[in-house]
Amino acid sequence: MKLLAPNPGWTARADVIVVGSGVAGLTTALQIRSFGLSVLLVTKARVDAGSTKWAQGGIAAALGPGDTPDQHEKDTLVAGAGLCDEPAVKVLVSEGPEAVRKLIARGAVFDKEASGEISLTREGGHHRNRILHAGGDATGAEVSRALLAAVRNDPEIEVLEHALVLDALKDSNGKVCGVTLHVIGAGTRDGVGRAIARATVLATGGLGQVFAQTTNPSVSTGDGVALALRAGADVADVEFIQFHPTVMWLGDASQGQQPLISEAVRGEGGHLVDDEGVRFMVGQHPMAELAPRDVVAKAIMRHMEKTGAHHVWLDVRNIEGFAERFPTIHASCLAHGIDPLKELIPVAPASHYASGGVRVDMNGRSNMAGLYACGETACTGVHGANRLASNSLLEGLVFSARIAADIAANLPEFSEPVEIPQQTILLDPNIRKRLQTSMSAGAGVLRSRVSLLRASKDLEEIGRQFSTQPCVEAWETTNLFHLATAIVRSALLREETRGSHWREDFPESLAAWEKHILQRMDLEGNWSAGFEEVIKA
Ligand SMILES: Cc1cc2nc3c(=O)[nH]c(=O)nc-3n(C[C@H](O)[C@H](O)[C@H](O)COP(=O)(O)OP(=O)(O)OC[C@H]3O[C@@H](n4cnc5c(N)ncnc54)[C@H](O)[C@@H]3O)c2cc1C
Repeated sequence: MKLLAPNPGWTARADVIVVGSGVAGLTTALQIRSFGLSVLLVTKARVDAGSTKWAQGGIAAALGPGDTPDQHEKDTLVAGAGLCDEPAVKVLVSEGPEAVRKLIARGAVFDKEASGEISLTREGGHHRNRILHAGGDATGAEVSRALLAAVRNDPEIEVLEHALVLDALKDSNGKVCGVTLHVIGAGTRDGVGRAIARATVLATGGLGQVFAQTTNPSVSTGDGVALALRAGADVADVEFIQFHPTVMWLGDASQGQQPLISEAVRGEGGHLVDDEGVRFMVGQHPMAELAPRDVVAKAIMRHMEKTGAHHVWLDVRNIEGFAERFPTIHASCLAHGIDPLKELIPVAPASHYASGGVRVDMNGRSNMAGLYACGETACTGVHGANRLASNSLLEGLVFSARIAADIAANLPEFSEPVEIPQQTILLDPNIRKRLQTSMSAGAGVLRSRVSLLRASKDLEEIGRQFSTQPCVEAWETTNLFHLATAIVRSALLREETRGSHWREDFPESLAAWEKHILQRMDLEGNWSAGFEEVIKA
């Protein structure tokens, strides 16, 4: 299946096409260049759009005194609730410290102690101080800045901005040999074209925009995962969406990206209270506000349902030096008319992170020859049913290096795309809001068969609202539709509660469900599901 789009009017070529310019795409491009291959880096908006620059907390790596990759592995496995692929986790934690050192060598500057040592902090689920951070709560911005500077410094990496990748191209053997893309540009590369390469790496980030409220920026429409699905690749664990409990509530009508209030704020003593000023987390969990993210998100949703409130409150007035420790959050509150030093901050859960994605092996290979995925787009198996805080930037760093090495070691020849008879689809962009609202209501923090079937029925109707007018909004909306369908199908199948997937009607974890759910789509747009055993050490 492919998106309805005009025929390509121009062609570009490079050894490797990297789609996306977040931590995963930028690091992949730099690593590939270290093997002397040419890279075309395409990105659908400005080069610094994407989740990476918004990351607040930091990057996890076992660098501190007394810390070891084994301890990091243990914490990652606990968070993943039985669904992590252990060999992939071992790779993440053991290659992580070196990947972070490489990032520092590329120019990223992290906060330091007075002694000159890198300052390491702790986040929920970590039993050691192992989170590197920059600019207090502006880690992602620093990572993005440093990697972009390194990419701009290499004239052999061609960067194409405002280039929205649409679908995969395949040769006569079914190998992926490039992509179609739409460029808002000038000169010869304008409109729909095709980029042909020996290998294609998808690093298009997350899919938070599937839901009505999200911490993800507007570019996070899951395009890479949707492309992979339409190309016939396996997608795994998509039911595991992490909802962040404390996202600034900007009103019921507010859709799209909302400001995140990092859990480090609760770590420093921030309290959750309701309209009556009651600390409702106390008594619900031994760690109260510092309980795992999914526990806090669920408790907030339940409390809101019980009281009819549309949000709860975060009280940070007792945190000394709040403005200095959290300058980004402080500024963001002020920008929305809230003085956090004097007032309570309204918060509610919102979608934050996709633990699943394009199913790949430990070298980032999907099940389609020529097609790789990296970063939030990929499902390497490291996150299982729930990502451990600050493991995602690390995943992008570690697996991009492996992908580059694998491509360099197994570089296929260029091949030419062939026309494949297949169904085309394009949906009306006006259905986006309905889709997002329906997903938040039916497949949000608290799910049940009834709520998921309601979302599924809505999606059936939404999927009949076709368009014949190709444009960026329609392509993105169609991608959101394919992802929403995959999420609801998997969430309905998984009749248990595990990690970030909470079924009100199946509140226990079941040993029989200790497996990955795969979703696939054929050339006619028919769906099928498969299962894969979790890989133990
Ligand atoms: C507010 C916030 C705070 C976070 N805090 C942390 C944290 O402290 N620590 C941590 O580890 N993780 C954190 N995360 C998660 C982490 O930031 C992301 O998982 C990570 O940055 C993803 O990197 P990426 O390279 O995979 O994708 P992104 O950084 O999202 O980049 C994706 C890129 O792909 C491009 N793109 C998308 N679609 C297309 C298309 N069709 N064609 C061409 N280009 C396309 C985008 O424009 C963008 O350049 C946070 C996320 C958010 C939103």
